Amino acid sequence: MNNRLAGKTAIVTGAGRGIGYAIAYRFAQEGAKVVLISRNAASCEGAAERINQELPGSCKAFPCDVADAAAVDACVKSILSEYPSVDILVNNAGITRDGLLMRMKEEDWDAVVNTNLKSAFLFVKALQRVLMKSPAGRIINLSSIVGISGNAGQANYAASKAGVIGFTKSVAQELAGRKVTSNAIAPGFISTEMTDAIPDKAREAILARIPLSDMGRPEDIANCALFLASDEARYITGQVLVCDGGMCM
Ligand code: NDP
Repeated sequence: MNNRLAGKTAIVTGAGRGIGYAIAYRFAQEGAKVVLISRNAASCEGAAERINQELPGSCKAFPCDVADAAAVDACVKSILSEYPSVDILVNNAGITRDGLLMRMKEEDWDAVVNTNLKSAFLFVKALQRVLMKSPAGRIINLSSIVGISGNAGQANYAASKAGVIGFTKSVAQELAGRKVTSNAIAPGFISTEMTDAIPDKAREAILARIPLSDMGRPEDIANCALFLASDEARYITGQVLVCDGGMCM
């Protein structure tokens, strides 16, 4: 613990479990006040409570469906009434609805693109003025190596994650004048509920393609997010930080 985020307020979406939870926990360990957002109220509140047990008063849950524009608007209003200044926004909430294009339904496309990409637009739009007032505003968006390489069976997911990269770079250019940085993280194969759903045979095939020959941990991604959120990353914007054990070189 170095208090690298002391005095800062961070919002992390999809923080009920997995990578988002690890990011919220890591930020709280470094002294940030953290707003946790996820859709399921019980898991969102449970996650904030777990962190608060160890780091009292560090976290608060604001359950919200990040794909719903009206819900995001109301959620951001209630966050700002309690936390008038926000320094760090992590757009992490994400889902998969995998399937070959031939069988992919329009609703699978829409759900993935709205949850993974539109949500980032909604949160940045709602918070950009507040972030501009921070002396060191930070936007960190979760992409994926699949957004760089594409992946059979994940056309919707890959498109959303490639979109996140284009969005991140555009926001970086628009907000640089106000000293707000915007970067993306592209994880490889990280052990969470999302990847637990992958069948054993496919998992073995993926592991065989990882030079560091192991799955990543949520904490690996949380450390990347911490770096991008910290003062050490003040001169980095518009970049994609790949954290994948060497899978995508
Ligand atoms: P998990 O499935 O473990 O967790 C996803 C989180 O997002 C949950 O807290 C979930 O909350 C939340 N969420 C999903 N949909 C919504 C929604 N509509 N509104 C609010 N919250 C929502 O995923 P991971 O931790 O594995 O992934 C986190 C991010 O990292 C995602 O963007 C993912 O695409 C990306 N990523 C993950 C990789 C991996 O290998 N795990 C690899 C590359 C990228 P709830 O349960 O309440 O819906």
